[in-house]
Amino acid sequence: MDYQATQNRLSLTRRLRRWVNGLGRRHRCCICGKHFHRFSKFQGGWDAVSPYLKELKWTGSDFDHFWCPFCRSHDRERHMMLFMEKLGYWESFSGAAVLHLAPEKWIIQKIESLQPAQYVKGDLFPSREGVVKIDATDIPFPDGTFDWVLCNHVLEHVPDDARAMRELFRVLKKGGRAILQTPVAYRLETTRENEPDVLSDPEKRLATYGQEDHVRLYGMDFFERLKTAGFSVTTRTHAELLPDIDPLRYGVNGDEELILCTKN
Ligand SMILES: [Zn+2]
Repeated sequence: MDYQATQNRLSLTRRLRRWVNGLGRRHRCCICGKHFHRFSKFQGGWDAVSPYLKELKWTGSDFDHFWCPFCRSHDRERHMMLFMEKLGYWESFSGAAVLHLAPEKWIIQKIESLQPAQYVKGDLFPSREGVVKIDATDIPFPDGTFDWVLCNHVLEHVPDDARAMRELFRVLKKGGRAILQTPVAYRLETTRENEPDVLSDPEKRLATYGQEDHVRLYGMDFFERLKTAGFSVTTRTHAELLPDIDPLRYGVNGDEELILCTKN
């Protein structure tokens, strides 16, 4: 079979699977509001995650309930939406200055609807319209520019994360807030990084750092690192903030905490 025929067949299988997942009412997406039978898995789902990471209580995405079959939102966007809604934070985006790095599609739409005074969307490798090239370790804005900084699932990819944290802190206004979600291994005390044998072997890297392009596995010292950069750090749990939201039904990871950083 030639390449195009293989692609067509793959896409037909994918469309069929998405259609089947879209039937029923077992799950609900908080972004598009649709009910359906099943969220799509991320790659092989949680079963494919290494025993090592499971043992360390590695917590980030919900690999088994990842994509919505209708709007293609992913679990972390949905969780963020629910957390922010519950805390009443979205209102404060109206008229605010916002920096959003590695911006998520549905969060962009939400923020734009709130009419911030300044909304900068940046990525090291921008691919979406309206997103500009920004390196988190060298943010081209003066000190104290932004009321809000959103930078989710970026720091685990950045070789000099201490410098990125200092930059994120620097551009935040006094009293401003930053959301810096990242996967953390809750049973690992000290972050694993700078291991040439892991970094040079894609399989080892996936099993140890969780993804082929992660440069580290954060342990519990992640929170200390944020504090060293100047942030005050609070974590809020799903159970505490969203007791009425069944994580399974809504396709979010009930163990994922909101990591809220402020500049006091
Ligand atoms: Zn959806």
